[in-house]
Amino acid sequence: MAVNAVREPVFTLAAGPVSVYPSVSRAMSRPVHYDFDAYFQAFYEEVVGKLSRALRVKEPALILHCEPAPGLEAAAASLIGRGDVVLNLVSGVYGKGFGFWAARYAKEVFEVEVPFNEAIDPQQVADALKRRPETAIVSVVHHDTPSGTLNPIAEIGEVVRRHGALLLVDAVSSFAGMDIHPGTCAADLFVTGPGKCLGGAPGITLMAVSPRAWAKMEKNPDAPRDSVLSLLDWKDAWSREKPFPFTPSVAEVNGLDGALDGYFDEGPENVWRRHAGAARACRAGIKAMGLALWPAREEIAAPTVTAVRVPDGLKDTDILAAARALYGTVFSKGRNETLGKLLRIGHMGPVAEPGYVMVALTALGGALRALGRPVDVGAGIEAAMAEIARADNRP
Ligand SMILES: *Cc1c(COP(=O)(O)O)cnc(C)c1O
Repeated sequence: MAVNAVREPVFTLAAGPVSVYPSVSRAMSRPVHYDFDAYFQAFYEEVVGKLSRALRVKEPALILHCEPAPGLEAAAASLIGRGDVVLNLVSGVYGKGFGFWAARYAKEVFEVEVPFNEAIDPQQVADALKRRPETAIVSVVHHDTPSGTLNPIAEIGEVVRRHGALLLVDAVSSFAGMDIHPGTCAADLFVTGPGKCLGGAPGITLMAVSPRAWAKMEKNPDAPRDSVLSLLDWKDAWSREKPFPFTPSVAEVNGLDGALDGYFDEGPENVWRRHAGAARACRAGIKAMGLALWPAREEIAAPTVTAVRVPDGLKDTDILAAARALYGTVFSKGRNETLGKLLRIGHMGPVAEPGYVMVALTALGGALRALGRPVDVGAGIEAAMAEIARADNRP
């Protein structure tokens, strides 16, 4: 199926979207049913039920029929009113970006920002809320993907809960790759998607919305209606008794069903263990090859992406091009503020596996050698193998 002159990648080890699980591809090839027919309406209700179970929430989850970036914009538009003061926590590019959306709708946005290789300290959040007790909404990215770093979301959630503000969490690149749910961080609006750790296709947004957050949106005179930015339009769409406001992405919902079935069949805890084990092995290999991790401390390194500093004197694009040309292997660059400074190896969904870590280390090491850097690839492989052999990595 070569439709152009560019060679297809052999191994996509990028920071998402991922190559989907085979079960997702099969599910996406199911018939595309008419959305107003009783069959699809009942199916949609069942898929939302599975999604709610995966998110571990009692209320029906919400699906928006756009990918998570506009899904996050829709969350800002629907939740934030013109009278609201918003505290936006910034530890990376996605956190920074959410602040621009928030500023479009809020009375005022103020930020706590840390260097993009660091994590937000919950004490900073507590101090900020003490300074500005009128803060109505706090927004935070759990895993800021272009940095490969995690924020201490449970602790931040506890601080926000005690203050009484609403908490919006972007968990697009951590949910289903580790133990993160709306309940673990007291999130009122929890945003994720199938295209990262669930190993699905990237075209829809998955959300959990607390009763408090629905009430806030219903009272918000600025909340959009009859709009792609409206959460309220889709509030009742989970029910087979209620019509869809617009046509849902039927094929993507089929794919989500396949992804959720796979997640439950393997067992969420096993899926998380697989992600954590792959990332640990990868970090061990990276360090043993004499390369530096981007996160300031290994405790804040995400289990779903390993961010590696670009060695001095080399260009990120040259390394990626060599890895692709020699090993058919695709990694991710940085983005905005982290562009040019790091490379990212994804451990999401089907590629959160020891075998793919070996490919990643070999391809990265081989690319660096091709560019004249003598890296000890063997030492990297040995260190990763030692990590994989440890008891907590065994199936
Ligand atoms: C991938 C991702 C998104 C969504 O971006 P899309 O371009 O819609 O895929 C949002 N937030 C984070 C942290 C992400 O990693």
